[in-house]
Amino acid sequence: MANECNIRVVCRFRPLNESEEKSGSKIIVKFPQDTEDTLILGGKVYVFDRVFRTDATQEIVYGATAKEIVEDVLSGYNGTIFAYGQTSSGKTHTMEGVLGDEKYQGIIPRIVQDIFNHIYKMDSSLEFQIKISYFEIYLDKIRDLLDVSKTNLSVHEDKNRVPFVKGATERFVTTPEEVFECIEDGKSNRHIAVTNMNEHSSRSHSVFLINVKQENQETEKKLSGKLYLVDLAGSEKVSKTGAEGAVLEEAKNINKSLSALANVISALADAKPYVPYRDSKLTRILQESLGGNARTTIIICCSPASYNEPETKSTLLFGQRAK
Ligand code: ADP
Ligand code: MG
Repeated sequence: MANECNIRVVCRFRPLNESEEKSGSKIIVKFPQDTEDTLILGGKVYVFDRVFRTDATQEIVYGATAKEIVEDVLSGYNGTIFAYGQTSSGKTHTMEGVLGDEKYQGIIPRIVQDIFNHIYKMDSSLEFQIKISYFEIYLDKIRDLLDVSKTNLSVHEDKNRVPFVKGATERFVTTPEEVFECIEDGKSNRHIAVTNMNEHSSRSHSVFLINVKQENQETEKKLSGKLYLVDLAGSEKVSKTGAEGAVLEEAKNINKSLSALANVISALADAKPYVPYRDSKLTRILQESLGGNARTTIIICCSPASYNEPETKSTLLFGQRAK
């Protein structure tokens, strides 16, 4: 794995939604026949590691983007999967989907199930310990979604200078169901603090962390892998004329953290000697799980509608910068 490029960028287009259909929006993206990695928009060709068309199922997306990372994490590597795109482009649908629904569940529940399935199959001399943390980053503040009393957690470095979120709740889990409970608890905690959940979730990054430790009882060999699953804040530009006050503050903040992420990813992709991890909380937290030996997958989520063309182009550019 060490010699491969460890950043994969895949792109997913959701179907036209009802309001796009009603307003007469057209599908502006083309997928050339016999390709699985190419799309054409506005006469320009974009190539990614994989392109998912509007009819791609959750299962297909999971199999082609996340399955391998599960194996890496169980082999002691770190990884990050994040979903990038404008609000309502399908980020949450892709990462989380409909919990408990075999067909419509997204990447996170499928990963969880796969991790446990692997563990159940493993040699009984291996002892596993799985911990979940779940937090969100809003206006550069880290709020614990598993304990609402922790509203402003800080990033510290451990003795190996690896950054981590100090004091974040860690829940020990032993079954997939217990992980799903964490997700539900986190989501309802997120609801409690805000008046409009949809608006709020589009302006904060949510970070779900699965930490897998294993120890071989016979050889005492230990392995530890961390997997960050990130549903990013909406990448849309706020119109310069309309926004003021708090909304403008939010928008500036999101812009800043998404550009910090773009800079980190492109420095990694170009193998630059200096990677500006310290420019945002998000990139600091992800430091050990982006680049290097870690496996990173970026899922670029897009609307196919003419109405969203400028945002879709800007999302595709973000994805291209990572290549
Ligand atoms: P985001 O998290 O990017 O704001 P959502 O994931 O909430 O966007 O998606 C917006 C809406 O579109 C939701 O109702 C979601 O169920 C639907 N949707 C998104 N992607 C797909 C898809 N690939 N197939 C069907 N419906 C989708
Ligand atoms: Mg969302």
